[in-house]
Amino acid sequence: MSLILAVYGKGGIGKSTTTANISAALALQGAKVLQIGCDPKHDSTFPLTGTLQKTVIEALDEVDFHHEELEKEDIIETGFAGIDALEAGGPPAGSGCGGYVVGEAVKLLQELGLYDQYDVILFDVLGDVVCGGFSAPLNYADYAVIIATNDFDSIFAANRLCMAIQQKSVRYKVKLAGIVANRVDYVKGGGTNMLEQFSEKVGTKLLARVPYHELIRKSRFAGKTMFQMEDGPEKDECLKPYNEIAEFLLSENPSASVPVPIGDRDIFEIVGGW
Ligand code: ADP
Ligand code: MG
Repeated sequence: MSLILAVYGKGGIGKSTTTANISAALALQGAKVLQIGCDPKHDSTFPLTGTLQKTVIEALDEVDFHHEELEKEDIIETGFAGIDALEAGGPPAGSGCGGYVVGEAVKLLQELGLYDQYDVILFDVLGDVVCGGFSAPLNYADYAVIIATNDFDSIFAANRLCMAIQQKSVRYKVKLAGIVANRVDYVKGGGTNMLEQFSEKVGTKLLARVPYHELIRKSRFAGKTMFQMEDGPEKDECLKPYNEIAEFLLSENPSASVPVPIGDRDIFEIVGGW
């Protein structure tokens, strides 16, 4: 059975960048990995393949939605470190449901006998407003991870995601493995005070702290993971959190919890208190 991880967080927070680098760290630690982009932007796997690959919805469209005609090569590209990459794609803008798209992608993987072939499958999921559709990956996941930074908006989004995870955990096995603090400069100190307080209040932990770094920003647009960037002490610093998360996920029994979301006023209290 594959270990299934769903990565969430507010738009533009760094979900795809972080997910691709976690995939890379997992693969380099010996895991067989599949990354599934679940955003109409379909740029989740760009750092792994260097291309904006064809989406499942586009592939289905080409065969008039006769899914039995599709083969692995039609929907999966193999990228850096042998990582398999898939982009679910999006429903037509203004209509359709993201959950349907994710469901179709999972159905195809199952039909092709691929769903159980990986050590880890990572879903990189759009945005923070967890409607029924975009919460669909939580139905499949063993663990959810939230990407956030030390500000009001991402903490607010993280709390909404905690609500969704708590709700889903009533019927599904999903638990929250923790929060990844992204674009925080832990070298200069501080940087995660509000996130730490929030994590404690909802009953989770900070899994890792990823610094803001130009190398990380550049790698994403160069269609590369951080692991492929030029060697040096700065690179090592950037890779550390990704390697830590991968080690945690591949450990015997990664700790996780059902989060208990807090009230909106409590968030104001956390943010206003600093
Ligand atoms: P999302 O998938 O959440 O929409 P992306 O992964 O596409 O976000 O990242 C949004 C932008 O932030 C990109 O330009 C990316 O290069 C940049 N970025 C993400 N994480 C970092 C980081 N730790 N340091 C510097 N830039 C980052
Ligand atoms: Mg993204």
